[in-house]
Amino acid sequence: MRPPRQATGLRQRLAELRGPATVPHPMDARALAALAANPGCRRRALLDGAGVDKGALARALGAPANFGQSQFAHQRGNSFEARVKADGGADLVRLLHERLRDGSEPPGPGEVATPDLSAPGPQGRTARTALALREATEAGRWALLDHPMVSLDVAGSPAFLEPDAVVVHPDGSWTIVEIKSFPMVDGSADPAKVGAAARQSAVYTLALERVASMIGEPPEGGAGTADSEAPADSAAPAAPTDPTAPADPTAPTPPAASADPEASAGPATLADPAAPADPEAPADPAASMAPAALAAPTPLAGPAASTESADSTDPAASTDSADSARSARAPVRARVRHQVLLVCPKDFSNLPTAEMVDVRKQLAVTRRQLDRLTRIEEIAAALPEGTTFDLRLTDDGRTPTRPVEELTAAVDAVRAAYAPECLSTCELAAHCRAQARAAGRVEALGRGVRGELGGLTTVDAVLRAALGGPAGEAAPTGDPAVDALRRAAALRAEALASRPGAVACR
Ligand code: SF4
Repeated sequence: MRPPRQATGLRQRLAELRGPATVPHPMDARALAALAANPGCRRRALLDGAGVDKGALARALGAPANFGQSQFAHQRGNSFEARVKADGGADLVRLLHERLRDGSEPPGPGEVATPDLSAPGPQGRTARTALALREATEAGRWALLDHPMVSLDVAGSPAFLEPDAVVVHPDGSWTIVEIKSFPMVDGSADPAKVGAAARQSAVYTLALERVASMIGEPPEGGAGTADSEAPADSAAPAAPTDPTAPADPTAPTPPAASADPEASAGPATLADPAAPADPEAPADPAASMAPAALAAPTPLAGPAASTESADSTDPAASTDSADSARSARAPVRARVRHQVLLVCPKDFSNLPTAEMVDVRKQLAVTRRQLDRLTRIEEIAAALPEGTTFDLRLTDDGRTPTRPVEELTAAVDAVRAAYAPECLSTCELAAHCRAQARAAGRVEALGRGVRGELGGLTTVDAVLRAALGGPAGEAAPTGDPAVDALRRAAALRAEALASRPGAVACR
C-alpha cells in the first residue's frame, strides 16, 4: 500500500493540475479502454488521472473534438436501458439465464434480489457495492446490482467505474451486463461496436476482480473453475496473489475500509481469482468476438459450470435450516465470469435481445496496457514548476479566462503519443494531430508507418534518407528502412523519367 502521506501529496498535486476549484472529471470505462489502447501517451494518462475535462480543454485550446454521442442517441440509450431493467431486472436476469443454457433452474417470481446501492460520493458507492456483492454472494441467490460502482487503480490514481449492471449467480459468480442501443440483427451486431463494448466490459471485469479477491477464500491451491483461463491471460502470468493484501477477506468489512481505493489498489489486488481453470476456454478467444460468435454463443455454464457445481459441496442440501446451511457452507468463492451479457435492441425494435461475449482477450490486453502506464507521480514530477491545466472559468462555469498560449504551453509540456486512432477516442486529438504535423512527426501517418521507419522519426528525415544517396545507388547502407526508401525513390525517379511531363519528386 502506498504511504498515506504520499497519496495525499499526489491528490494535492492532481488538484493543482486540474485547478483547485475544478471538480474532477470522472473517468469512465470507455476512456479507460482508450487510455489502455495508447499506454505510451503520458499526456492522456496525466490529464485523465488528474480528472481534467479534456473536452473543455480542447475547446479552450481552439481544437474541439468532433466525436461522441449525440444528445438524441444518449436519450435513446437511456430509455432502452430503462426498458430492459423494468420489472426490477427480473426479465434481464431471465434473459441471462436463457443465454447460459446450463440446465439450471431459472429464477422464479420475486427470487431476484435488487440491493439498494445508494451512498454518498463515489467512495461510498464503491464501498456499498462491495458490501452488496459480498452479501449477495454469501446468500447464494440471484441478485441484480443496478449501476454498481467499482474502482480501479490507474497509474497510481483511482478511477471510479459504473457498469450498467452486475448479476450475482447462486453459485457465487458474477456476470457483467452491458446494455447498448445499437441493434442486434439475427444474433449479430456491428463487430466494431461489439469490440468497443467488450473492451469496456474488460475494464469492469478488472475492477470487479479486485472486489472478488477480497470476498471469501480463493480456491485452495489455486484449483478452481478458472485455471484453464490462465494461458489466455498472458498479460500477467506471474502476477502473484498477495496473501497479505486483505487481512481477513471474509470478515465483515466496514464500508469505509473498502471504499479507499488506495488501500486496495495495486497489481496484487488485480490478481484474477477466476483465472485458474475454465475448461471451456477456446483456443482463440478472439474468435468468439466475431459476429458469428454472437450468432452461436458459447454457453457460459457449460463444462466449467457443471464441474464447479459438481465439485462444490452444498451443505444446505443435508441440513434442515437455512441458517445452519449457511454456517456449514464452504467458504464463498466469488469470481467474475469472463463472458459478459451484451443486451441490444432486437432487429431495430425496442425489444431487448442478448448474447454472451467472451472478453478474455480484451481483459489480457487491458491488464497488460494498464500495467505499462507510467505512474502519474513520475509524469507530474517531470513538469516545469507551476504547470497547471486550470481553465480558470468565469463564475458561470462556462468561459475559460486562461490565455490560450499558457494552456498550450502546459499541455505541450507533457509528451504525447499521437496516432490517427486518437481521432475517434480522445478529445485532444485535433490539438495533438496539429502538433504532430507541425513537427513533421511520422506518427501522424499511423503506427504501421511509424514502425516501418525505425529510427526515422520525422518526414524530413525520411525524405533526406530517401533522396540522400546518388540516384540509382543500390549499395546497402545497413539500415533496412533507409535501403527500402532509397529503392522506392530510385524506382519512382525511373518511372518519372520515362514520362517527362510528370511532376518530379521534391
Ligand atoms: S489525442 Fe493526444 S492526448 Fe489524446 S491519446 Fe492521442 S496523443 Fe494522447
